[in-house]
Amino acid sequence: MKKKLNGSRIAVYCASSAKINKGYLKQAEYLAEDFIEKNVKLVFGGGKTGLMGHLASKILASDGQVQGVMPNFLKDIELHHPLVEDFIFVETMSERKKLLMKDTEGVIALPGGCGTLEELLEVITLKRLGRYLKPIIIVNYDGFYDSLIELLSKMVKENFMRSEHLSLWTVVSSSKDALTAIENTKDWESNALKIATFKN
Ligand code: AMP
Repeated sequence: MKKKLNGSRIAVYCASSAKINKGYLKQAEYLAEDFIEKNVKLVFGGGKTGLMGHLASKILASDGQVQGVMPNFLKDIELHHPLVEDFIFVETMSERKKLLMKDTEGVIALPGGCGTLEELLEVITLKRLGRYLKPIIIVNYDGFYDSLIELLSKMVKENFMRSEHLSLWTVVSSSKDALTAIENTKDWESNALKIATFKN
């Protein structure tokens, strides 16, 4: 059954770099439009630059809801988005990651650098262990994540993970399909630990 996202929180992991091509920025814009249309609150890293800043600015420009979570050391060098009013400041990157996924109906990874990648891999790891149960959507725009998806498949093929784990994440090729993918993806089983690994 299709989930209702109205009023929910969804985290988006995405790039801090501002030196990326326009196609990536467009992906953030499509996502912003869908957040507004479906009345979803964005939870994000709070940055003012790159895809992060662009996404938040677009949502705020349409009177949408945005929460930023940022460590103080990044605020101290003024990397926080100046228009975001709902902000949580924390001490460490670990605390930030925990709050980014807290009480969300799902998480979405847009293209990004190592920060985005580690946020994405942490949430996949937690889901495998039953510590996060909501949909994880990878926006593989222009094949950006092809090599990661291939590596994850190899992990399964070589029995480092089980075939069930291929359902930990959902791949879409455009951010236009990200919220629909969350609506259509069932939550993970809370007994996930039973299939977390191979016994022998
Ligand atoms: P990256 O994909 O490497 O640009 O990192 C983006 C992610 O890492 C964001 O979701 C943030 O949580 C964090 N991050 C890394 N660099 C910054 C920055 N300059 N400003 C804000 N957050 C950052």
